[in-house]
Amino acid sequence: MEVRYRNTRDENEVVASSEAILKGLADGGGLYVPTAIPALDKSLRELSGMTYQETAYEVMKLFLTDFSEEELKRCIACAYDEKFDTETIAPLVYAEGAYYLELFHGPTIAFKDMALSILPHLMITAAKKNQLDKEIVILTATSGDTGKAALAGFAGVKGTRIIVFYPKDGVSPIQERQMVTQAGDNTLVVGIRGNFDQAQSGVKQMFSDPAFQEEIGRQGFCFSSANSINIGRLVPQIVYYVYAYGRLLAEGKIAEGDKVNMVVPTGNFGNILAAYYAKRMGLPIGRLICASNENKVLYDFFRTGVYDKNREFVLTTSPSMDILISSNLERLIYTIAGEDAAVNKKLMRELAETGRYEITPEMQKELRDFYGGFTDQTQTKEVICALYEKTGYVIDPHTAVAAGVYEQYRRKSGDGNVSVIVSTASPFKFAGSVMDAIEPEHKRCDDFALTERLHDLAGVEVPRAVEEIKNAPIRHQTVCEVEQMADVVRGFLR
Ligand SMILES: *Cc1c(COP(=O)(O)O)cnc(C)c1O
Repeated sequence: MEVRYRNTRDENEVVASSEAILKGLADGGGLYVPTAIPALDKSLRELSGMTYQETAYEVMKLFLTDFSEEELKRCIACAYDEKFDTETIAPLVYAEGAYYLELFHGPTIAFKDMALSILPHLMITAAKKNQLDKEIVILTATSGDTGKAALAGFAGVKGTRIIVFYPKDGVSPIQERQMVTQAGDNTLVVGIRGNFDQAQSGVKQMFSDPAFQEEIGRQGFCFSSANSINIGRLVPQIVYYVYAYGRLLAEGKIAEGDKVNMVVPTGNFGNILAAYYAKRMGLPIGRLICASNENKVLYDFFRTGVYDKNREFVLTTSPSMDILISSNLERLIYTIAGEDAAVNKKLMRELAETGRYEITPEMQKELRDFYGGFTDQTQTKEVICALYEKTGYVIDPHTAVAAGVYEQYRRKSGDGNVSVIVSTASPFKFAGSVMDAIEPEHKRCDDFALTERLHDLAGVEVPRAVEEIKNAPIRHQTVCEVEQMADVVRGFLR
């Protein structure tokens, strides 16, 4: 079955998967969604015997149907290799009644590596396929983790340049250091005086400005995106849900067909949307548990059917989830609107104009597989501390937000199904917040010094990614206002 990709705001725009990956964002600000969600064509039992790479092929071949077997397998082999510090790529760890799916074993120690280590390969392959005669410029807005993972993926890749915008005061010290030490002539890192939503809107604006596209087109460039609005990010993220289910089955923790809940710490709604797609492929997922921090727009949305970003933006200890405009929710809205681009477009226009929209009761009914919850910063700290004291296992604040919501869900629902908590970052990436939780009396010093102490307490090696940047030279110092983003891009491409 051929799967193509349709614009959520214009049903007449339908493109092949390779084109959708190259373009990133559809025309008029829409996103690409698959014209159909393919069903898994291997049994769960068969899948449970597969490696991560084999599972990746089984999932991705169903979505990226204009890639050949050879092309896909090459991309997968290049992505999931020794860059990851474990052969299993995504290990499952049991602690206190749930399984933690550790997605932080890649080069930048956050789950963004799962997709961003393969996206550059998919994109270069797609460029060849479509005889693209322009250099690809990746424009990226980051809440902290996407930026470094995208830089690591695209640095030095011929035929591409990458520009990353991050909120100057909205990321952790280690996240910032990871980005500003990035080597590679084709990279540019820019701090903006604003928050993530402003960075993301600025990038989206450049994408949907035909005059700007034409201007850079004349210079031999075209834009693409490494954000989770790119379908080339989303599809590789479906893989680890299938893989996690396979591991549980292989290890006898569940029987074939048993439902498993997925608990996902959520910001831009990319990760949990991938879980939703996995469920629609036939993977027996029970509840999709959407965990927010104090920026709890999604919690309110699932409860009331009203999406309202008109509220105070809170800087929390889980900065990668400090987001009020969850871009990928648009893909879900489109689906529950009966795949009606006109309805979706109207709601997205309301969001842009008033910061708010409301879905119909019929649409709300389609959300029954989701459960929304949130964990505030005090609870997040308590969750990290309690788990550590009981088991010695240390989790990062994002994962702790999910663990906190899972705890509330389990108490409220009495649901006894096996649950997987998606662990999105290494605790070393947020050493300061983690140490505040597990050793509140620790001496205040910079995050790098704290990683040593964390190593002693957690009994886990300090990841290579932290060691590498400790003494690396700062290579990027550009800071700009939100309004200057386009000019910074022009300057870099000149
Ligand atoms: C990006 C990120 C998230 C949020 O993921 P979305 O796909 O944006 O919902 C959660 N945790 C960490 C550590 C992240 O980097």
